Amino acid sequence: MGQFENLRASSLYCNKCRQAMPVRQKLLLVLPDKEIYDYLCTGCASSLGQREVGGGELLMARHQSRLP
Ligand SMILES: [Zn+2]
Repeated sequence: MGQFENLRASSLYCNKCRQAMPVRQKLLLVLPDKEIYDYLCTGCASSLGQREVGGGELLMARHQSRLP
């Protein structure tokens, strides 16, 4: 999990832009047990990383989204 924690940040280092850039989170794939997100640089649209959300984290996210 440790590696993925970093990808939750709103900005990631981009090799093309040579600096930390704000990222756009794009939902790539929805599966019954997990969702895969792509993180795109807002400067050059390069993919800076991906994150899988599954298991308890996904259940929690879906549960929270139902709360008022
Ligand atoms: Zn970039």
